[in-house]
Amino acid sequence: MSAPGQTLRIAVVRGDGVGPEVVDASLPAIVAAAAVDGVAVVLTELDWGGDRQIRTGRAMPDDALDVVRRHDAILFGAIGHPDLDPAESVWSLVLPLRKGLELYANLRPVVGWEGLSTPARDGAKVDFLVVRENTEGEYSGIGGRTHRGTPLEVATEVAIHSRPAIERIARCGFGHARERGQTLTLATKSNVNRHGYGLWDEVVFAIGEREFPDVALEKMYVDALATRMVARPESLGVVLCGNLFGDILSDLGAPFAGGLGMAPSANVAPDLDVPGFFEPVHGSAPDIAGRGIANPLATVLSGAMLLRENGCPRGADALERAVAATVAEGSARTRDLGGVATTGEAGAAVLAALGDAV
Ligand code: ATP
Ligand code: MG
Repeated sequence: MSAPGQTLRIAVVRGDGVGPEVVDASLPAIVAAAAVDGVAVVLTELDWGGDRQIRTGRAMPDDALDVVRRHDAILFGAIGHPDLDPAESVWSLVLPLRKGLELYANLRPVVGWEGLSTPARDGAKVDFLVVRENTEGEYSGIGGRTHRGTPLEVATEVAIHSRPAIERIARCGFGHARERGQTLTLATKSNVNRHGYGLWDEVVFAIGEREFPDVALEKMYVDALATRMVARPESLGVVLCGNLFGDILSDLGAPFAGGLGMAPSANVAPDLDVPGFFEPVHGSAPDIAGRGIANPLATVLSGAMLLRENGCPRGADALERAVAATVAEGSARTRDLGGVATTGEAGAAVLAALGDAV
């Protein structure tokens, strides 16, 4: 946490592909926004990622967790090197950090920006937040295969849903719903997965009754919610879900924000004293890397989330207003938003708009 006169220590992992481009274009605006709250930013550049893995055999050093723990937050670009296996890339860096720091909450806001064409109905105001459990569920990694290669082959993939993990993510979801003044929609599939999602329903409703009686709570089966998200995205506030559903629903929501180039995310552990991990939802985008045309705004918006989580609320708001102004004004839009601006020009436009946004 930072306060006026304090410093905010950010570990910067630019990573692979468009990662370095979007991070470099975003940092000046993020640093300037922290100053709005009187906070000075100290950046530590870490050369972790695919190039390092090819050079040394490891994407990050053995003491990586100790290194990041000496910081307040991590700003991450992207991982995914064309010469490396995609699954290996993720397991070499992103997942060890998320798991090692126990960043159990994945926050993915979806905001419809004025002036951008999206699949939402004209005039619909989209502003919802997906709160995804980040440590267990269907992504526990537990399972195996028997009778390999035979006609009788069977695979199991075990989903783990523990009461403590549901409780802490539920509190996180309720907290955001309270802060935003919105309804909390719990997305499960307890009519079919009665054990795991049955426990979710039970625990979330109990916490709601006990600790958040002022927050409206509704339950929806995830399939029905997917239809609602597409048909009436403006009707959603905070969506609370497990690991797999959260992964899918937040990608489903991205087009309503204007696409992957506009989709930020945060991985945090609200009550633990660990640095959060802030990253654009998109990957390394090898098809456009090195050409200076990637949209840096998802990274800028991830930076706004970083600032909000680290005691710079005014800077975070100003940065989001600067993004809104840049997108609405239109001349600094990158190609994915229908413009011709370079990555650097888009980042510079946000920095320039920041003065008026304070
Ligand atoms: P990963 O496996 O690393 O998640 P991916 O295959 O999902 O990668 P992304 O890197 O997420 O791919 O990119 C998906 C598509 O979106 C690509 O066509 C890419 O060019 C485009 N894209 C991603 N990020 C951006 C961005 N910041 N600006 C513009 N286009 C982007
Ligand atoms: Mg992807």
